[in-house]
This record gives sequence, structure tokens and C-alpha cells, in this order.
Amino acid sequence: MNPTNSHRRRLLGGLAAAATLPLLAGSATDAAARSTRTASKDARLGIAIVGLGGYGSLALERLSQSKVARPAGIVSGSREKALEAAARYGIPADAVYGYDDYERLARDERIDALHLCLPVGLHVEHGLRAFAAGKHVLCEKPLAATAGEAERMAAEASRAGRLLMPAYRAWFSDAVQDAIGRIRQGTHGRLVSVDAHKGFPMALPAGNWRFDPALSGGGCLLDIGLYSLQLQRWCAGGLPLSVRAISHRGNDPRFAHVESDIAWVAEFAGGVLATGSASWRYRNQNRLRIGLETAWLDIDPATPAMGERLRIGLDAPPRIEEPQFPLRDQIPCMYDAFAEACLGRRELPVPASEGIADLRMAEMVYRAANAAPGGAHQ
Ligand code: NDP
Repeated sequence: MNPTNSHRRRLLGGLAAAATLPLLAGSATDAAARSTRTASKDARLGIAIVGLGGYGSLALERLSQSKVARPAGIVSGSREKALEAAARYGIPADAVYGYDDYERLARDERIDALHLCLPVGLHVEHGLRAFAAGKHVLCEKPLAATAGEAERMAAEASRAGRLLMPAYRAWFSDAVQDAIGRIRQGTHGRLVSVDAHKGFPMALPAGNWRFDPALSGGGCLLDIGLYSLQLQRWCAGGLPLSVRAISHRGNDPRFAHVESDIAWVAEFAGGVLATGSASWRYRNQNRLRIGLETAWLDIDPATPAMGERLRIGLDAPPRIEEPQFPLRDQIPCMYDAFAEACLGRRELPVPASEGIADLRMAEMVYRAANAAPGGAHQ
């Protein structure tokens, strides 16, 4: 058995079999969440960041820009670092928690929700603890290391009457929404192809959790290829009917247990072909190319936190149009929308089912890479 899969099974081993659940954290859950929210002096939703690493620190700064949510706490293994950040963002020192402090956290009515910014393999454990503590969860990508773990989290969210949203900031991209709108409305005819590629030279040193399948669940596919899977599914809808794939680890010892490169071709319903790749060796690529019957849509860069650029290639006469969007950071927009849902003012913009479906597609890609000549997942 390949190391990645054996780690995945071990991670799952401690968990009870996932109950079959409705894929959408639906309106019943939303209603329950609305009715049980504790009254707070501040009308904004109080969110605590869990894991103050590279992304958690950035997220905290962006959270402070939200109009509907506010920084309300920090959960960290490093108390000194967390107290320093708390002081910077006006978080009281008694709202700084350690990872073993969820009982006290549960009683803290200033905190309505947790944003999990932890290594992927820890998402499920902290998600379950958050729901047990009565908190909503915004969870960094991917939702979990496996689709089964993600289903378990969604089931627990439903049981607890709390919301679970994958922190998919790309959903709040104006360029991505514009492109999806054109596909859905048939503005340029039917969808033919969706090509999505993302990668950069991996600079993190050996020993980082991203290279340990027990903490990462996989390599570059789960880390950055996930954006391409999201985009392909949002454009084509549903899951692919079939996938072919190939992956590599190269000679770099950091990639002994996780893939450094992976490429796939997927067929979606209606004969839509999707090619994708992820790489920790590319010299910075981040692009989406959508083929329609009478136009192509190009978003490059496709999934930065802001500054995406959409170009549209049209015929008769041949021309390239470039719609302009206001420059806005997706992360505060994501917090606003998540908070609106937790406060009962709208449905969740990105339900847990999206995070589960992406992991299912990732697993299809990994399975296909096992069978491909040269695949790393033997
Ligand atoms: P980092 O390694 O920079 O930070 C992870 C943090 O998790 C650590 O600093 C630590 O925080 C905490 N932690 C708890 N247990 C462990 C452990 N066993 N090993 C390592 N760290 C631990 O990772 P990132 O911030 O880059 O990634 C965190 C999450 O954010 C991942 O899910 C990743 O996929 C996602 N991410 C999302 C991005 C986006 O654009 N949406 C961009 C980058 C990452 P502390 O010191 O406070 O205890």
C-alpha cells in the first residue's frame, strides 16, 4: 500500500465510521444555529483564530477588517506569541487559550465561532471539539485529510446545530463569480473545457508538517491543487465521471512521502474535459482557462487573495475584452459572509458539501495516479 494511503487509513482508524449525511449543511442546521446564538454586547460575530502560524496570523489581520465579524480570541500552543497578537488586535488576554483549554472556551460567550488555521490532519479533531464546545467552524482548506473525515465533521456540525464552512476565499472572487455566471447563463454557448494549474517553488524546510502525510493528508494536490479542483467543479458542476493522473516526488528528500507534482485529466458530464496540475516546482503559475463554444475565459492570476484578472477572447470580430473589478481582498468578504450566515441573515455561501466534494475529487486523482505509469502513489 502506498504511504499516503496507509497514513490516511491510520488517521481514519481512530474515528467511528462516518455516518452517511446530507451533503449540504442545510437550512435546518442554519435555523438551529440562529436560535441558539448567545446574545453578545457587540453585534458582530466573535471569531477566534485557532493556530497562529503563517496563515492564521494573516487571517487575524484580515478578520480585523471584517464589518460583520470581529477578532474575539486566539487558540495557540504559544501563549507568548498569542498574547502579543491579542494585544495588537484588541483581544482580551483572558480570551487567549491553549489547545487543551476547550472546556473554558466553551463557556466564553464572546466567542461564537472558530477559524481553524491548523495543519490539515488536525482539522477534524479540532472541528469536533469546537462543535462539542457549541461553536461554529470556519475551516481552512482542505476541510480535512480525507473525504471521510470531512463527512464526519459535517455530521457533527449538523448534530450540534452549528455551521461548518470551508474557508474557500476564491468563492468571493469577482472574476471567478463573473466567469461562473457566464457559464451558468450560457452567455458564450456550452462549456467545453476547464484547465487549471497552480504551483510555486516550495521553500519550506524539511520537517514542515506539509511533508508529513499524517499532518497534511497529501502533497501539493491537497495543498494548492485544491484550488484547481474547486474551480473545475464550480465550472463543470458535480464530480468527474472519470479521471486519469500521474504524480511525481522528484529526488528532493522533503518529498519522500508526498507528491511534489501531479497532473490530471478529468471528464465531467456533458463531455467537459478538465486538465489540471499542481506543483511545488513550478516557477509560479496560477491560471484558469475556460473553453466555451464561442469564447474563452482566462483568469490569470486565478486564485490570489486579491488582484485576479479576467480576459475574454471573442470572435466576429476577433477581440479580447477585460472586465474591470474593484480591487478587494477576498478574506474579509469571506468573514462577512460566514458571519452573516452564523447570525441567521443568509444561507452559508460555501456549504461543507463543497469541501467534501473537493476531497472526493482529490481522492479520484490520487487513485488514478496510483495506476498511472510513473505515479508516486504506488
Ligand atoms: P503554519 O505551519 O504556518 O502554521 C500552522 C500553525 O498550526 C502553527 O503555527 C501552530 O500554531 C499550529 N499547530 C498546532 N499543532 C501543530 C503541529 N503539530 N505542527 C505544526 N503546527 C501546529 O501553516 P499555515 O498557516 O501555512 O497553514 C495552516 C492552514 O491554513 C492549513 O490548513 C493550510 O492549508 C491553510 N492555508 C490556507 C491558505 C489560504 O489562502 N486559504 C494559505 C496558506 C495556508 P501555534 O504556534 O499558534 O500553536
